Amino acid sequence: MLVTGRELLQDAHKNNYAVGAFNVNNMEIVQAIIEAAEEMNSPVILQASQGGLKYAGVEYIAALGKLAAEKAKVPVVLHLDHGTDFDQVMLCIRNGFSSVMIDGSRFDLEGNIEITKKVIEVAHAVGVSVEAELGKIGGTEDHITVDAKDATFTDPDEAKRFVDETNVDYLAIAVGTAHGVYKGEPKLDFDRIKTIKGMLNMPLVLHGSSGVPDEAIKKAVANGINKINIDTDLRIAFADGIKQFLKENPDNIDPRKILTPAKDGMKEAVKEKMVLFGSVGRA
Ligand SMILES: [Zn+2]
Repeated sequence: MLVTGRELLQDAHKNNYAVGAFNVNNMEIVQAIIEAAEEMNSPVILQASQGGLKYAGVEYIAALGKLAAEKAKVPVVLHLDHGTDFDQVMLCIRNGFSSVMIDGSRFDLEGNIEITKKVIEVAHAVGVSVEAELGKIGGTEDHITVDAKDATFTDPDEAKRFVDETNVDYLAIAVGTAHGVYKGEPKLDFDRIKTIKGMLNMPLVLHGSSGVPDEAIKKAVANGINKINIDTDLRIAFADGIKQFLKENPDNIDPRKILTPAKDGMKEAVKEKMVLFGSVGRA
């Protein structure tokens, strides 16, 4: 069933686990994620990135996500990742998303509060949950690049003020992760997560989580992270499935045959993440 992000993540917050938010771009990916969630009896978040919306179109993503959620035996959230502006967020709400992110992290604190409040006023009126971001997460995601020198960690006092003024449902914080593929090993600021969690007492979100060692993810969850965005690790699993199949069957031209091992590989990757995040059996 389709549920709001608030409902799903409040449970994760109260019971100290995290829910995976996996990027969706086509039918096979949606099916891989939903099948994994059902087999693990786990809640799940399907999220559309800016690149995903450009690739498939908001109507296709919404239709796929809503159908999948409706048929699923587990709670499913359909979420917009890194919403750029008010109009795009409204378009997604109109198309049936149950959660949206407004990313005002490119503005100063006042500007971020302003755009977030504007979105929340409308979203909450129609029962849609909202994620915002405070601090700047480094790396590249769908053509948006933040240089390492421009990435800034979330300030706990600013976070407290931000949440008090906006009434946001969950907050993405910058604590040392980056979007895309890591060159070295990322160093997470666990104390900062713990401090922010203690001050806000609400669900927190970790972006750029692919490639972060399992132990660090577990520690981040133990310190208060409740939504974990994963894209790169799933892309790797999907691409590996295709490469392997075509290596063994170079003459095969059937898209169904080519995409099945990709889907299966991605499904296994999603299941591993659900185990790691502690969401298994929480549906
Ligand atoms: Zn992100």
